[in-house]
Amino acid sequence: MKAIAFRGVGDVRVETVPDPKIVAPTDVVLRITTSAVCGSDLHQYHGRGGALVQPGAVMGHEFMGVVEEAGPEVRKVRPGDRVLAPFSVSCGRCEWCQRKLPTQCTTTERAVFGGRWGHVWPGGQAERIRVPFADHMTEPVPAGMSDEDALFLGDILSTGFFCAENGGIRPGDAVAVFGAGPVGLLALQSAQLFGPARVFAVDRVDYRLALAAEFGAEPVHLDRGDPAEQLRRLTGGRGPDVVLECVGHETPFTQAIQAVRAGGTVSSVGVYVEPSLGFPAREAFFKDLSLRMGICNARNYMAPLLPLVQGGKLRPARIITHTMPLGEAPKGYAIFDKKEDRAIKVLLRPT
Ligand code: NAD
Ligand code: ZN
Repeated sequence: MKAIAFRGVGDVRVETVPDPKIVAPTDVVLRITTSAVCGSDLHQYHGRGGALVQPGAVMGHEFMGVVEEAGPEVRKVRPGDRVLAPFSVSCGRCEWCQRKLPTQCTTTERAVFGGRWGHVWPGGQAERIRVPFADHMTEPVPAGMSDEDALFLGDILSTGFFCAENGGIRPGDAVAVFGAGPVGLLALQSAQLFGPARVFAVDRVDYRLALAAEFGAEPVHLDRGDPAEQLRRLTGGRGPDVVLECVGHETPFTQAIQAVRAGGTVSSVGVYVEPSLGFPAREAFFKDLSLRMGICNARNYMAPLLPLVQGGKLRPARIITHTMPLGEAPKGYAIFDKKEDRAIKVLLRPT
């Protein structure tokens, strides 16, 4: 089959790899209908934190498709069913899965599809994929729901919602979102569900800030001065009650801590690839702030968020700017990375 393989920094290629097969009786093999390029794929593409993925590894952890083959012990889905899966691989049975922390699954050694954290599992920027523990991992997609509406439940929509939820936003709060990329934009949509009085979006990319404004945010442009100062000025000197960090670098993490009001909350979902992070600990301490961070247990959010998408309360498909054949993925990576052609979210179609 055709798949997108990692070959080095800034180098992903269309290659022919062996078709996945049923290995365990609880596996399914999906024929992928849609996959996407995620900001987390870019860390690998940039070679950030060292090359942990072997050249030739199949990329991608956002995918959905149709069950093509199911192992003899799979009960929940059958060939022909359309399903979603979360970006991390988990068994559903170990202590961590039972504690609703499937990203910490010990059975799968915390594997991520196409990923570099924990164990590496072949990814979803491909024509087919093997999904293990299918009764736990797959979520059937209702008939009539488009791939565009469903796909992001497996990663960035769940992550955006998790970020907003961890912020503990109360009605009337001022909320600032750092990063108006796909994750930040969906964190912003999710934040609106909690009834804030004002929402700010911080970035330096004009066309992304324009979409954030469409979602109800007041834009804060990074090139117009220190964002913490801008946010303080916009909130009568106090700073936002809640700051959602959706970038994944030391600078925005620091700025988030500097911006939040005393006693406020910083909720961070940006992936810190490096093993440690410098941040203003003294300021955080004397501000009495709360910090929440982490990898999203997307499995927990897929089913509960699905009706919010169906009911139009969350509109994830609005962030899609490009839909390309799988074979054009190298171009998709390049424009998403360089923010060319007004790219926000790039979808890939195998056929
Ligand atoms: P992206 O790279 O498209 O978006 C990042 C945005 O941040 C860009 O628009 C960029 O211009 C902006 N930015 C850069 N520096 C900034 C600063 N100082 N202040 C404000 N904005 C700044 O990527 P994305 O797909 O939106 O992903 C964002 C982050 O979320 C990545 O780190 C990704 O790895 C992470 N992520 C985490 C999880 C999780 O489970 N926690 C899941 C998915 C993605
Ligand atoms: Zn992702």
